[in-house]
Amino acid sequence: MTTTARIHNFSAGPAVLPLSVLEEIQRDLLALPGAGMSILEISHRSKQFEAILAQAEADIRTLGNIPANYNVLFLQGGASLQFSMVPMNLLTPGATADYIDGGSWADKAIKEAKKVGAVNVAASTKSENYARIPKQAELKLTPGAAYVHMTSNNTIEGTEYKSLPAIGPGNDVPLVSDTSSDMFSRPIDVSRHALIYAGAQKNMGPAGVTVVIIREDMLARSLEKKSTLPTMLNYAVHAENGSMYNTPPAFAVYTLGLVMKWLIAQGGLAAIAKVNERKAARLYAEIDRTGFYRGTAQKDCRSLMNITFRLATEDLEKQFIKESTAAGLDGLKGHRSVGGMRASIYNAFPEAGVDALVAFMKEFERKRG
Ligand SMILES: *Cc1c(COP(=O)(O)O)cnc(C)c1O
Repeated sequence: MTTTARIHNFSAGPAVLPLSVLEEIQRDLLALPGAGMSILEISHRSKQFEAILAQAEADIRTLGNIPANYNVLFLQGGASLQFSMVPMNLLTPGATADYIDGGSWADKAIKEAKKVGAVNVAASTKSENYARIPKQAELKLTPGAAYVHMTSNNTIEGTEYKSLPAIGPGNDVPLVSDTSSDMFSRPIDVSRHALIYAGAQKNMGPAGVTVVIIREDMLARSLEKKSTLPTMLNYAVHAENGSMYNTPPAFAVYTLGLVMKWLIAQGGLAAIAKVNERKAARLYAEIDRTGFYRGTAQKDCRSLMNITFRLATEDLEKQFIKESTAAGLDGLKGHRSVGGMRASIYNAFPEAGVDALVAFMKEFERKRG
């Protein structure tokens, strides 16, 4: 292999980007068409960058079919900063925020929210190693909660919501969702949410930009805290300034915009969802084929994005990682908190890569099974 050849990247994030997007970045890196300079150098106040940001937002709106009463923000600090910004802006004095604890990232969100105000953990599957999503009947929701927070896809444990939870009569309690690892992998009903956030580096683009989709009534809550919250942590400030209160991460926004264009060219979310279902089904079928491999997520909660599985012993797992890496299948080591293997197969992960992993798994089982 030459040092510049691309291998199959199963990393959970930062993750694989579409090859055509990388090629476009490479082609235009020295000079954006018509700008005479690169995206790394251009002023964020320039007409060209304003157009790039506006187009990225427009394409996100098209893809997500986002209603007009929602703002799309491009922020920094990753999804992890949203763990703090959500309660700082939306947890009104005297109110309680409900959190559904379905995975390690939800657990982190809860820890941050508790620093800000009253939190009720509505349900948790922590004692089951987060092998499943909490069931509807298990949710102990607070009447009149400030909001309910969920994690749509648990990146580390490999579980994913198949439909949104019902939260309160008429679903009128604001639903906040951390969609960092499955945003735009399938259609999403934005109108059921009050706020959606996603660090881009799993499925939408490179690290450095976080997409926040926020409904106007939530912005109004944020506005009330304008004089007390740090300016940079206030959603209303970012909305008023079109995500340009300060210098935005121009390269990350630009690349995310190219990924959105690529997604539209794939046929949008319904079309990419079909591909994602096909890729995941192929991998789960191999995991389930003989019992040599063992899927760690409960079957009705299996993620289409992060596929977690184990072998009989840790030694065998070490061997699997070693040999798969040598075979050009990179990033299959599971998160250190759960061990085993994890194959992250986001939108841009090619079907040929899934086929290569399945072939490797068959051969590994033939040799070691
Ligand atoms: C990766 C991830 C995060 C943390 O994202 P950062 O951008 O690194 O802060 C939070 N939530 C989920 C679901 C994730 O997958």
